[in-house]
Amino acid sequence: MARKRKLDIKKYKKRLEQQRQELRQELRALEDQTSGRDRLSKQVATEDFDEAGGDAAADAVVRSQNLVIIENLRDMVDSVNEALRMIEKGTYGVCEVCGKNIPKKRLQALPYATMCTDCRARTGR
Ligand SMILES: [Zn+2]
Repeated sequence: MARKRKLDIKKYKKRLEQQRQELRQELRALEDQTSGRDRLSKQVATEDFDEAGGDAAADAVVRSQNLVIIENLRDMVDSVNEALRMIEKGTYGVCEVCGKNIPKKRLQALPYATMCTDCRARTGR
């Protein structure tokens, strides 16, 4: 088991909560944009048949890119939630796979990290 160490949990918790809020805002904006583009391309299709093909294709590309970003953002929200749960349980900052302390430097860069670099690389997440 890893040695207990002093982490400024309050600071990380605040950062995580802030990050979750930002992620949710970003998600909402992207979701709006993605569904908004849908309406737009339908409108174009009825107004101008010749150009609709190209625009619809470009829209489809943007939409599928947005969907990938949306999925990534959802994963990040999940990770942030998980990290906040770990704070509640008092296990924050400890790798959930091997039980070693996650280096402070990593937590500062990625406050929602729930695994150490080694385990993350091994699980491919
Ligand atoms: Zn680990």
